[in-house]
Amino acid sequence: MPHSGCLNDYAASVESILLAQDHAALPPHSAIQRAELSLPKTLPESGLGFERIKQHLEEDIVPALNGSSLSANYYGFVTGGATMASLFADWLVSAVDQNPQVHSPTETIASDVDHVALRLLQQLLGLDENLFNGRIFTTGATGSNILALALGREYVVASAGRRLSPPTNTSIAQLGVLKACKLAGVNRIQILSAMPHSSLIKAASVVGLGHAAVITLPLSVEEPWKFDLAAVERHLKAANVASIISVSAGEVNTGRFTTSGDEMVKLRALADEHGAWLHVDAAFGLPALVLPQRPEYKHIIEGVKFIELADSITGDLHKNTVQVPYDCGVFFPRHLALQQTVFQNAPLVVPDHGEIPSAHNLGVENSRRMRGLPVYASLLAYGRIWHQEILQSAAYELLPGPEIDKVYMIVLFCARDDTLNSQLTAKLNESGIIYVSPTSWNGRAAARIAVSNSRVEVKRDVERVIRELERVSAKS
Ligand SMILES: *Cc1c(COP(=O)(O)O)cnc(C)c1O
Repeated sequence: MPHSGCLNDYAASVESILLAQDHAALPPHSAIQRAELSLPKTLPESGLGFERIKQHLEEDIVPALNGSSLSANYYGFVTGGATMASLFADWLVSAVDQNPQVHSPTETIASDVDHVALRLLQQLLGLDENLFNGRIFTTGATGSNILALALGREYVVASAGRRLSPPTNTSIAQLGVLKACKLAGVNRIQILSAMPHSSLIKAASVVGLGHAAVITLPLSVEEPWKFDLAAVERHLKAANVASIISVSAGEVNTGRFTTSGDEMVKLRALADEHGAWLHVDAAFGLPALVLPQRPEYKHIIEGVKFIELADSITGDLHKNTVQVPYDCGVFFPRHLALQQTVFQNAPLVVPDHGEIPSAHNLGVENSRRMRGLPVYASLLAYGRIWHQEILQSAAYELLPGPEIDKVYMIVLFCARDDTLNSQLTAKLNESGIIYVSPTSWNGRAAARIAVSNSRVEVKRDVERVIRELERVSAKS
């Protein structure tokens, strides 16, 4: 148990980590080697005591961690950062150690706080609070995509059953996948997507549909990052097949969007016609909903236009939108009764008290941390305008080039020289000053800069990136 006085120590220790200016993107090799040697191989019979462990964590472990959130120059993955308010709230979450799963308004305010946080977030995003009422915090976008496919699977097979004559109950939640599909005359459930995130393919396996269920459709010929609607329609028409459509709103590799408003309207109509579920994986693109209507954001805003026509939407708050520490994703579905069937914590049915549906019947977890508090704190501490401003600076002032206005948070580039290009990311990362990740584009190796941290100071960091690019090209 903590004893009085030690909290100041904790705070000072964490503060010194946070305040250390100008974190490198990667730790020096020597720090990693030292940490590796410090890791024990056996469980001690008697504990080492708090003081020894505190010292070990501070001196061995922390210096060997990368600057994925603490450095403004870590551009490898979309990692986001944390604000003071969200960090403080996150500590409180650990300190109070609440489980907000069941809404018990006479016993604790915990579930109300989660609920308010989700509603404020919907206001930030302009997502209808009455429509998307199955809102829930998740462990991340992968968690949200798993929920989406579990709901989609239930919906598409149940709707196939309803279209039979006589209409037949084919609920997967009640009967299981095999029996429900058999009764519904469904031989296969397919997930139609373009540029799906890898986690969607994992989610397909988790919910028993299989990797092969994800069909990556060809892109449109004229705009080769867009969903080809004719291909979607062709696949929807297959006999004895039920379909989930998963739109990538913000493709994480290129920063492009696979739909615009027109396509969303057409996809909704197609989904209704064929009893399909329409999901949007907006783990990456969700914050585009926060941008002000200005000509320079036209293409990006168009990329999330009519996103509310979806049956479910995935967002990722530890990545972007609000700057909270790991782990926190969000899921916005709009079929509450269906969701409560799929995630019913059966057979123990704890009735909901009052107006807020209990989270343990809305998602995977029965127990979980109070994930909403850091979101709540950040939204209230900084408000709408700040959340707009960090996006505007993070997204668009970096390395302008042709068509930069269609690209969102991600900059892809390659070296003209093939030899340099093949080693580009390794060379850029070797100094540890910045960190970018490798990818490919049109069959050529490319480097990718993902900007998602509110610590970015555009002028300083653009200069730093340019300096590193010059260093690498001068050497070759
Ligand atoms: C990052 C990402 C995910 C996975 O998110 P996690 O938070 O890492 O689980 C899913 N979809 C997209 C589009 C992403 O960018």
